Amino acid sequence: PSISRGLQVDIEQTTWDDIGGLEEVKKKLQQSVTWPISYRNAYERLGLKPSRGILLYGPPGCSKTSLVKVIATISGASFISINGAHLYSPYVGDSEKIISSTFQRARSASPSIVFFDEIDAIVGKRSFDKSHGRDSVQERILSMLLNEMDGIEGASGVLVMGATNRPDMIDAALLRPGRFDRLIFVPPPDLEARRQILRIHTLNMPLSNDVVLDDLAEKTEFYSGADLKNLCREAAMIALRETISVQSIEMRHFSEAMKNVQPSLTLEALKQY
Ligand code: ATP
Repeated sequence: PSISRGLQVDIEQTTWDDIGGLEEVKKKLQQSVTWPISYRNAYERLGLKPSRGILLYGPPGCSKTSLVKVIATISGASFISINGAHLYSPYVGDSEKIISSTFQRARSASPSIVFFDEIDAIVGKRSFDKSHGRDSVQERILSMLLNEMDGIEGASGVLVMGATNRPDMIDAALLRPGRFDRLIFVPPPDLEARRQILRIHTLNMPLSNDVVLDDLAEKTEFYSGADLKNLCREAAMIALRETISVQSIEMRHFSEAMKNVQPSLTLEALKQY
């Protein structure tokens, strides 16, 4: 990955197969992102305008970022990622300049995807501090971002994607037509998705015959994709700590790992979606 002026262009290759479950989400993303590129003529003929902004929302650790990386990989688009830490870092300079240089760079590297991770932390309602009046940094960043999004033309090949765990915190101005006008919910993994995620993250591990991923999937309700990935790693670490010459990971290692890696999702937290 090359890093320049706080912007990161990531070229790590990922595919749909690296993401377990989420069939519906994958289909929606294909339709709104890859179709307009692959069937550009048909879209023009029908007067269809591709989305300029897509917002993925849902609980943490459930592959929003990974999905955007897959989209970038399969559509051959450059991936430019920007987050609150970049924007508000005292070391990288003027936040508004970062926004404008990001979009400039996105236009010259098109087709490209500009990805705002945890966008609520960048321009969320919560971050507006009333006591600072109307020209707080966040408010200037928001208007700069709106400006840039409004300036993107259909043919420019720049797509803006955002991810958030807190859709309620997104400023309504960002959700108007022509901005983030496509909202896609990325749900927590259901039973089948958990089975697939466990499979993906154990593909390169020697599993003993007593490890039944279906059973593990049953036992891991409220585990996010990230939790499941940690669980697999933890099971392997436990086996390794037991004996350095370990040949395979057994079910008991997973049971032990479940004590250390707890589910991060709760029924209460999921209600907000
Ligand atoms: P956050 O909201 O915390 O930024 P996120 O929704 O963007 O999280 P990712 O960063 O994409 O989630 O996922 C975190 C890790 O969990 C990734 O390394 C990914 O490998 C793994 N993971 C999450 N969901 C899945 C899934 N459905 N299949 C495979 N791996 C997954």
